[in-house]
Amino acid sequence: MSATLGSLLQQLQPDWNIQLFERLGDIALESSNPWNNAGTGHAALCELNYTPERADGTIAIESAVKVNEQFQVSRQFWSYLVDSGALPDPSAFITATPHMSFVWGESNVEYLRKRYEALKDHPLFAGLEYSEDARTIRSWAPLMIPGRKKSQPIAATRIASGTDVDFGALSHLLTKNLVAGGAKVTTEVLVTSLKRQKDGLWKLGLRTDIGGTPLPPVTARFVFVGAGGYALGLLQKSGIKEIRGFGGFPVSGEFLRTDNPDVVARHAAKVYGKAAVGSPPMSVPHLDLRVVDGTGSLMFGPYAGFSPRFLKTGSLVDLFASIRWHNIVPMVAAGLGNLGLVKYLIGQLLARPETKFAELKQFYPEADPKDWYRITAGQRVQVIKKDKKKLGVLQFGTEVVASADGSIAGLLGASPGASTAVPIMLTVLEKCFPGQLEAWKPRLTEMIPSYGTALSDDPAVAAQTLARTARSLGIQN
Ligand SMILES: Cc1cc2nc3c(=O)[nH]c(=O)nc-3n(C[C@H](O)[C@H](O)[C@H](O)COP(=O)(O)OP(=O)(O)OC[C@H]3O[C@@H](n4cnc5c(N)ncnc54)[C@H](O)[C@@H]3O)c2cc1C
Repeated sequence: MSATLGSLLQQLQPDWNIQLFERLGDIALESSNPWNNAGTGHAALCELNYTPERADGTIAIESAVKVNEQFQVSRQFWSYLVDSGALPDPSAFITATPHMSFVWGESNVEYLRKRYEALKDHPLFAGLEYSEDARTIRSWAPLMIPGRKKSQPIAATRIASGTDVDFGALSHLLTKNLVAGGAKVTTEVLVTSLKRQKDGLWKLGLRTDIGGTPLPPVTARFVFVGAGGYALGLLQKSGIKEIRGFGGFPVSGEFLRTDNPDVVARHAAKVYGKAAVGSPPMSVPHLDLRVVDGTGSLMFGPYAGFSPRFLKTGSLVDLFASIRWHNIVPMVAAGLGNLGLVKYLIGQLLARPETKFAELKQFYPEADPKDWYRITAGQRVQVIKKDKKKLGVLQFGTEVVASADGSIAGLLGASPGASTAVPIMLTVLEKCFPGQLEAWKPRLTEMIPSYGTALSDDPAVAAQTLARTARSLGIQN
């Protein structure tokens, strides 16, 4: 997120000084590391959590269209950076990987058929295919059919224009380009405090991460707190009133991974199932081809869990330390309002390895436990916020929190995540630099031609934009 914001600002205002502080030994070792997230270029092409079924049986596609629009904004910015030579080789971070939905059981098949009908003519979902035929599905995803009961009703959708993104590689490339443009990146340095001085500048307290040696503070006119799970704590330290009432609920995750080349060679897709009733949106199971450093692996999960840490490398007291008088009520209310989630997490924690492996077998019936090993994913800190009616709610999206004067902003929450980093950081610009936006607009539309408009409103422009960015990013089909 920070690398994205820095890149946007450097393009818009090359005369500004940008400094980035990272507590670990390198950037992108937390959520943005490729093995800590699922690497989906989330465009809601096949992730079923974005298309819920309404009470009347129709399918709501609004969230899916919104996420897709957001992803197209990211694609346009990345394409611009590739075309202008700022990002050298798109294959280092993005790979064309068909996305699929796969369901079993009569009611789920009916749901998927209706979802397909609702999306197939939308310009951003062009090319979506549907099948209930085992042979066709096998040709799309060879691992998923052998070993399955012939009597089981199944259905799948497929879209060839899906992507797998290595957000770690992308963060590195963006940061390298930032440094080439004059920005300064300091690793192994922890930002410990944020204080507003009388002259209006923010003073950042710093110390080395290892050894804890205090370092001279730095001052800044504008601060972006892109600290992932630690953004909540730093924003609380800044004392801005806009952070009052916000809390966080950490959810940890695990994936099963295989690097067996024979297995990997038989699954060139990212396949999303339907989350169990009552489970949270991030628990949608998926069997994914991952491409990291040019090598393929398969990943299945996520299996949710609970850890009070707010970062994978965080502390056991993170959750406790985030409690303030102003967020106790929202946190308790959100907890009581989400007992289903608590029950789901306890169920996941208590699930035996065989039970977890059985979930993989629903996708890949002939999976062999010998091929698979567990990896721990990144921490998600879900946003808890005040709510007039319910006192407190748990939300699964992201939230940009900015001070009224726009001198500081931070990002809370996780989903849809890194795929939508560009539109989220445009929100930061809009909230924090309203006075500059008019002057920046020509440059913004040069980089992101659809800026301020919706591609869905113009099918011809949508098709043109999809084709153009696919060419630039080397993901045309
Ligand atoms: C299991 C899982 C699966 C996901 N799958 C996807 C997916 O498929 N597609 C997708 O688009 N998104 C996905 N996401 C979300 C995505 O990973 C995140 O939205 C994104 O990586 C967040 O980037 P960030 O820069 O905000 O945070 P991070 O990448 O976590 O970076 C924050 C950085 O701040 C540093 N830091 C923290 N505190 C301090 C401090 N005080 N001083 C200095 N440095 C500090 C940390 O060390 C870290 O490097 C997933 C997330 C998880 C956990």
